[in-house]
Amino acid sequence: MLTALEQYDPQIYELVRQEGARQSACVRLIPSENYVSRAVMLASGSCLTNKYAEGYPGKRYYEGQQITDLIETVARQRAKKIFKADHANVQPYSGSVANLAAYLALIKPGDTIMGLALPHGGHLTHGWKVSLTGKIFNSMQYGVSAETGRFDYDQIRDLAKKNKPKIIISGCTAYPREINFEIFGDIAKEVGAYHVSDIAHISGLVVAGIHKSPVPYADIVSTTTHKTLRGPRGGMLLCKAEHADKVDKAVFPGIQGGPHMHTITAIAVALAEADTPEFVAYAKQIVKNAKAMAEKLLECGFNLASGGTDNHLILIDLRNKNIPGKKLAKALDRARIETNYNTIPNDPAPPANPSGLRLGTPAITTRGMKEEQARQIAEFINKVAENVDNESVIEQVAKDVLLMCSQFPVPEHFIIPNKK
Ligand SMILES: *Cc1c(COP(=O)(O)O)cnc(C)c1O
Repeated sequence: MLTALEQYDPQIYELVRQEGARQSACVRLIPSENYVSRAVMLASGSCLTNKYAEGYPGKRYYEGQQITDLIETVARQRAKKIFKADHANVQPYSGSVANLAAYLALIKPGDTIMGLALPHGGHLTHGWKVSLTGKIFNSMQYGVSAETGRFDYDQIRDLAKKNKPKIIISGCTAYPREINFEIFGDIAKEVGAYHVSDIAHISGLVVAGIHKSPVPYADIVSTTTHKTLRGPRGGMLLCKAEHADKVDKAVFPGIQGGPHMHTITAIAVALAEADTPEFVAYAKQIVKNAKAMAEKLLECGFNLASGGTDNHLILIDLRNKNIPGKKLAKALDRARIETNYNTIPNDPAPPANPSGLRLGTPAITTRGMKEEQARQIAEFINKVAENVDNESVIEQVAKDVLLMCSQFPVPEHFIIPNKK
């Protein structure tokens, strides 16, 4: 396939090649990113991109669905199996669209939703005001405790009782701790709300049994497919049987047109990969690596939001280091360490230049890195932080990182062959 690209569009081929080389020559710590397998890559680059399939298996609006029906059915069955859900919709184009569909399946525009505030680790689509979800719904937001950086479930319950939301959203984009989905479900029941759980980040840990699943406690569970789950970019909804029809109608025709069948094909492949002992071992190692990295960062004098991590993600509070998150993220990028600057709960700095740095271990774990490398990476981060204005030190770290990357190559099938 790449040979054809090289032949027909050498300009884009060269850029794709360069991006492949970049991804293999740096330590990627953005917690929402990963490396997909060759099988997932091939499926998402397949002829299924040519096919329109509006509707659902057995009820399509276009002919020629002999194969697409089979593929989507397999994807749905695999999703139901590994998440132990009654129903799965594998059509959402992304996590954001999946969330919007989940809300529209259950409530009307103007109704009240309650999610975690973005600066506290929530997602835009949990009702943050610049998002459509914060405009078409009456959005109330909860936060994490100022002292612990963790959820204070009593506070969330009080807020829910006061505001009477129709939906309570659990799930986060920058929360390093285990989430008690059962309590969220109880709170929702107590106030007569639906519980929508968004496990975009942790769905890989959930299917591996390392993080408790929200499926028994939520009306609808939303996820992306490309984070710890290690599939193609996409979204997915899981729900109880009673909501199946509403969920399907909200996705199509409610929000979307034709599903991306090439993505659904690749999701099916990723779901089979996630249903293996190897994937469980992978998910366990993600958490071990994050814990090792967090411990070493603490030893180096970094403060961590909530004091550490239970999952794949670490949020550094840089205030005691007097380095803005953006400045450190850019220096680390020059040192071949990819992170993202992020707000910390109750951040005194503006969101465009926040006080935090967000890290995660899903991608380095796919490369086979273990605790020893995770600790070494923490030391690299410390070195860059202590020399944030010293380009020659940063250059030296970049060389050390490159050496480490060469010792842990992206599994062969991930690499785009070099142009000879
Ligand atoms: C990443 C993420 C999303 C959005 O996913 P996209 O595929 O980028 O639209 C939604 N919710 C949470 C909690 C996320 O972390």
